[in-house]
Amino acid sequence: MPPRKAFEIGGCIIPAGTRKTVHLPVSVLSNHTPVSMSVQVIHGKFDGPTVFVSAGVHGDEVIGVEIVRRLLHTPNVKKIRGTLIVIPIVNAFGFINHSRYLPDRRDLNRSFPGSSGGSLASRLANIFLTEIVQRCDLGIDLHSAAIHRTNLPQIRISPDNAKLTELAEVFGAPVILESNLREGSMRAEAKAIGKDVLLFEAGEGLRFDEISVRAGVTGILRVLRHLKMIPAKGVTKSKSQSQHCISSSWLRAPAGGLLRTFRADGDVVTEGEVMASVSDPFGEAEEDIIAPFDGIIVGRAVMPVVNEGDAVFHLARVKSVQKSEETLENINAELTDDPLFDEDEII
Ligand SMILES: [Zn+2]
Repeated sequence: MPPRKAFEIGGCIIPAGTRKTVHLPVSVLSNHTPVSMSVQVIHGKFDGPTVFVSAGVHGDEVIGVEIVRRLLHTPNVKKIRGTLIVIPIVNAFGFINHSRYLPDRRDLNRSFPGSSGGSLASRLANIFLTEIVQRCDLGIDLHSAAIHRTNLPQIRISPDNAKLTELAEVFGAPVILESNLREGSMRAEAKAIGKDVLLFEAGEGLRFDEISVRAGVTGILRVLRHLKMIPAKGVTKSKSQSQHCISSSWLRAPAGGLLRTFRADGDVVTEGEVMASVSDPFGEAEEDIIAPFDGIIVGRAVMPVVNEGDAVFHLARVKSVQKSEETLENINAELTDDPLFDEDEII
């Protein structure tokens, strides 16, 4: 059998069976400092799919960066079939500024497909689309909630995509949430050129939490295993099926003031239940936030100070409260006890 062809990116040649970090130039800052997007390519010895894993599209969503760091140190990826392209920080500008946005206040995930002569966001989107997305069979894009908010680990997929639904189930996050594609997002533009992207959301902006990181690392390894890109050793399939939700809504603060929450992310609530109260600073008026339907809290505000209309809970509708509670408990226990994270030398 002839040896596998080398992978070429940004003028670098990566022979089969090697890994290399490549820096793709993006822009030059006002002080003449060049900015690049650093990409690690693990180009396997043998043929297989090409998959990208990206984080930091929003610069303050740092959990994905930690997930990528751990992923790159798992022994399984050393024996990869196919090619894994890993981008720990897509939006370097936002990352160093602890900001979701680019310096021009644009949101990268609303700037796709972009163009080579456009704004900073537009150029970066264009580089990502042409250098990464177009060359891959599948992408996994890692996000967290914005600052002062947190998300339960979840996979977002567009409705009516059987292949993505299957991969989302393999990933095994506590929740799979169907959500429509947003104009200008990476997922929407990837779909327009026939590429599938799984979007993982977990945790809080500018914070780490162990369960979210574990859910991400484990899920990615499960998907790579399912695609037969990595050996199965040490990567267990999820024993419980994710809670699949097809709709969700944001519950907003009915008044401004101090927010006291009685329920947290991952909790399953029943219609009519009081989830939080907002009191004015004098403690004279108090208004409750009441569950409008049976659902699971997939996101929430962590700031105890709210203006009227602020988003407080992101509630995804469930059919059975009892079944959802069981699912959440089982998946949480699996992530807590995962032997993959027991030995320091593995991760
Ligand atoms: Zn994001």
